[in-house]
Amino acid sequence: VKRLVIDPGHGGKYPGVVHNGIAEKEANLATALTLKHVLINELGAPFEIVLTRAVDGFTPFHRRTGIPGTLFFSVHYDIPNGASPIYHKKHDCLSCYVAQRLSRLTGRKHPVWSTSMAAHTGGRLYIDDAKYPAVLWEVAPIDMYQDSKEFRLKVVRPMAKALMEVMHELG
Ligand SMILES: [Zn+2]
Repeated sequence: VKRLVIDPGHGGKYPGVVHNGIAEKEANLATALTLKHVLINELGAPFEIVLTRAVDGFTPFHRRTGIPGTLFFSVHYDIPNGASPIYHKKHDCLSCYVAQRLSRLTGRKHPVWSTSMAAHTGGRLYIDDAKYPAVLWEVAPIDMYQDSKEFRLKVVRPMAKALMEVMHELG
């Protein structure tokens, strides 16, 4: 059975970036839950969906990437006032392919980056530890985030459709 592992970044004592009183960890979790909802209830996803956390607690990185799956999909809003790339696991052609497919299918203008280009973490991201294809989606700059169902559905729906295609393609 294919399985999409959705990873809401940060959590618990690690808020991620904070902007106007909204912590990234909350934006990531709400977005991840909306993504799961759209995949199941609007698109009838024919694969399992597992979240690395479903509440505001911190799941250690090795536990997140240790969950078996077909695609590891991490959700973040790290970047203020900036571009919002999709990162792929370093030295992994399938991850790079998936990131490029997701980017193209969602009409993104920003180029896909490998995790070594994630300067804010010193050139390495925990998705590099996943044993299967892994990408990290910077949904939008944190200052663009709106804490509303409408906003989340708007950003999530194109990516949910793209994930349906990519999950179909992955063996
Ligand atoms: Zn983040």
